[in-house]
Amino acid sequence: MRMEHRAPVKSEPQKPAAITASGASQNIQPPLNPETARLSGKWGRICAYLAAGCIVATFVFYTGSAVYSRLAPAGIIPIEGTGSTDSPPGAARPLPEIPRPGVGLSIARDIASHTEEDEFRLDVITYTVQAGDYLFAIAEKFQIEPETILFSNYTVLKDNPELLLPGQVLFILPVDGVYYQWQAGDRLDTVAGTFGVETEDIIFWPGNNLSPTIDVQNPPIPAGAWLVIPGGHREFQQWEMPVIRKTDGAKWAIGGEGACSTGPYSGPAGTGYWTWPTASKWVCGYEYTAYHHGIDLYVAIGDPIRAADRGVVVYAGWNVWGYGNLVVIDHGNGWQTVYAHLDRVDVGCGWTAQWGEVIGTGGTTGNSTGPHLHFEMIYNGVRVNPHEYLP
Ligand SMILES: [Zn+2]
Repeated sequence: MRMEHRAPVKSEPQKPAAITASGASQNIQPPLNPETARLSGKWGRICAYLAAGCIVATFVFYTGSAVYSRLAPAGIIPIEGTGSTDSPPGAARPLPEIPRPGVGLSIARDIASHTEEDEFRLDVITYTVQAGDYLFAIAEKFQIEPETILFSNYTVLKDNPELLLPGQVLFILPVDGVYYQWQAGDRLDTVAGTFGVETEDIIFWPGNNLSPTIDVQNPPIPAGAWLVIPGGHREFQQWEMPVIRKTDGAKWAIGGEGACSTGPYSGPAGTGYWTWPTASKWVCGYEYTAYHHGIDLYVAIGDPIRAADRGVVVYAGWNVWGYGNLVVIDHGNGWQTVYAHLDRVDVGCGWTAQWGEVIGTGGTTGNSTGPHLHFEMIYNGVRVNPHEYLP
């Protein structure tokens, strides 16, 4: 099962959904869609290689000695593979220690070290997230799809790869699919249907240890038991932060210090023309995917961040959900834009930001492992792919 990573999401406004895959509970936490933005995926690696390459080149240049050029390979440290390798110099910072309920801050190092060589396994193993990990690297390490990790760990990741933090313990399936915790009253055929597979796919998966003659409608599977659903898939159930409009007033006062509680505000509407919020126009982190409804743009700390269009600032400052210093602009024409992890915020609640005006500087605040701008574009409540709208 390989799902389309870049496919735009059909995204309705997301709402809390009671799903049971991988043990998701009905009482899902406070509005979580934090950023644990990571240098990730191939772009992350390219960013890292570029940064490492620049540092090495500078070093070699200044030493003026070919002797040191043999150090170059040591400067370019592959990030993929072990998941615990240090990031290249300048490319990423250590994870900020952001306490989150249920997540240990200690960084365990060797839980799943035996798995890499295994040609074939049937058992579900666990993996403890390391500093510098990102979804794609973990998936690659265990030769499964990133979606499988999300489908197997809803209680930890809430379908949001940016919630990945060191110390989290993840289930790693031996095959692509869903890890499902059996509920009282479940039937095998309905569970199979829920995840788009045949009943036999579940029964005959050896790791499930089910009898071939099991009663499909009333199987003697204890509630709480975990089953691998090979090839299974489901919709993502990611939390989204609420959309803020300038007419909303105090709607989002729970978001943190930056919440605007003095609204509603008035101000000019957007021009309808977009400009890039960063000088760079490339992604260095997560792309827009079905489970990441924004793009992570490359910035260095201190780089100017610009309003993508004219609008009224409806959030300005610290955000407690992992976005760090956050600015949200309501463009008044159905559009909002979101700028996260800023180093500095230069605007205030109710201010009008002109098209292209500097609203702050790039940074790595909040749940972030390195400087980048997490940028979202929202149209009538739907997070769309910014690449389809930016010039
Ligand atoms: Zn992001």
